[in-house]
Amino acid sequence: MKSDIEIAQEATLKPINTIATDLGLDLDDWEPYGHTKAKLSEHLLDKLKDRPEGKVILVTSINPTPAGEGKSTVTVGLGQALNRIGKKSVIALREPSLGPVMGIKGGAAGGGFSQILPMEDINLHFTGDLHAITTANNALSAIIDNHIHRGNELNIDPRRIEWKRVMDMNDRALRQIVVGLGGPLRGVPREDGFNISVASEIMAVLCLSTSINDLKARLSRMVVGYTYDEQPITVKDLKVEGALTLLLKEAIKPNLVQTIENTPAIVHGGPFANIAHGCNSVLATKTAAKLGEYVVTEGGFGADLGAEKFLDIKTRAGDIDTAAVVIVATVRALKMHGGMAKAELKQENVEALKAGMENLKKHIETIETFGLPFVVAINKFPSDTKAETDFISNWCESRGFEVALTDVFAHGGEGGIELAQKVVEKANTSDKNFKRIYELDESLETKIRKVAQQVYGADDIELSPKAKKQITLYEELGWGKLAICMAKTQYSLSDDPTLLGRPRDFTINIRELRPSIGAGFIVVLTGDVMTMPGLPKEPAALKMDVSEDGKAVGLF
Ligand code: ADP
Repeated sequence: MKSDIEIAQEATLKPINTIATDLGLDLDDWEPYGHTKAKLSEHLLDKLKDRPEGKVILVTSINPTPAGEGKSTVTVGLGQALNRIGKKSVIALREPSLGPVMGIKGGAAGGGFSQILPMEDINLHFTGDLHAITTANNALSAIIDNHIHRGNELNIDPRRIEWKRVMDMNDRALRQIVVGLGGPLRGVPREDGFNISVASEIMAVLCLSTSINDLKARLSRMVVGYTYDEQPITVKDLKVEGALTLLLKEAIKPNLVQTIENTPAIVHGGPFANIAHGCNSVLATKTAAKLGEYVVTEGGFGADLGAEKFLDIKTRAGDIDTAAVVIVATVRALKMHGGMAKAELKQENVEALKAGMENLKKHIETIETFGLPFVVAINKFPSDTKAETDFISNWCESRGFEVALTDVFAHGGEGGIELAQKVVEKANTSDKNFKRIYELDESLETKIRKVAQQVYGADDIELSPKAKKQITLYEELGWGKLAICMAKTQYSLSDDPTLLGRPRDFTINIRELRPSIGAGFIVVLTGDVMTMPGLPKEPAALKMDVSEDGKAVGLF
């Protein structure tokens, strides 16, 4: 089997103007970024506002394991398959971060014959959105330090600055630093640190904004720290919402590319799924819905994180109607949830698979709680045996759950026809009763408890003394009616990453809260959350190269 990059480099891309024209776009609706990428106008959505909306399909999965699930691959494959059965589809995906690309996870452009292209560009610098976000974030840091250096009129307490610098790289050495050393001319010394760019609140803000004005309003509300008397300091207090919006004026425009089979894909924004909501931009998804009959999009990690946040945060911010959900599962990952070690996964083991089904079952229950129709997609890997895939299919069918074996990695859209047909059927059913897990006017504690109990299956939550104090303070500051964005390990339904399968009789420990007022949510931290990852012992970077004629080598 060829590598992802070899398959990608053999594909024939259409010029981007053909993709744009096929979507019915006029020349002033988009601008080319080279031959195969384009930026869509930020006014396009407004222009299309009277058009009917296509059906939004959310792709989610079981809890991820190191065995890999392939959500992006299935998202791209399903988009291609819908096209093959004559439905006009547009894919809406996140932009990859260079940290995981150089580190361990790999890219986020799908895999095999279900990839978005040009995968080298998308995985590297693409159209510069990540760089613009990094620059806007760091401009704000510079403004804060300069303000303190120039007399600190706002009375900012340098010990209570929450705003961190960012860089789009995994670099653990920068997690905790001291800035301003070197005497009075070099600023005021204080502790600072770097996050990875995709963990910046600016990324979340960009992804939830519906227009330039909304972007500016959200940026102005961002809280950067507190005064000596513990009053929040916002971007508006520092008077730089205009400058930050200016730095983002190109980044807010969604990017248009295509898949291996020339299906249009809008790739825009990519917030971390732990500290933020982990979905591509509202603008991208909504624009895709105006341009296609079907939009296929995904939420990061498993349904406990990405789908919950898509449905409770993103669809609320963007007024998006979700037609149906695809829950991706793999034999390999379910066997790991059933107790098998990664090294043994190639061996057939129906017993382990049976035990691991508990994890899938909980995510199905969650989507049922949201009242949405769904299809289980078995993402087929070469090592899967017929006994194993049959087991999952029978398990689903005997419970009345729609299921489709998909092989979009090896066969592109052709491998996802059954899935596409079942998704179309589900997306057009009247059997839908969408309801969110919580209402915004409930208390912060109630909202957190509802997610923990209904989505994770926890008995209850336990708030640390710090979290209790913060809840009181945040409600006093008028932040109690915001959404909540849970920061929890992706590996387990609980807050303990070692508890695979379906943990029972557990409590979710709430360590602390963080305000993301511009994004419009309160981040709720359970356990340690990594906002600046480190590189592994053998970073993916060691395999990368570029040929004399500028061709990328070893990028997955
Ligand atoms: P996710 O979106 O869940 O993180 P991806 O779609 O990015 O997962 O896939 C993760 C990795 O697994 C990619 O390198 C992809 O090429 C590979 N992969 C996905 N599906 C398959 C499959 N069916 N067979 C082999 N490899 C696959």
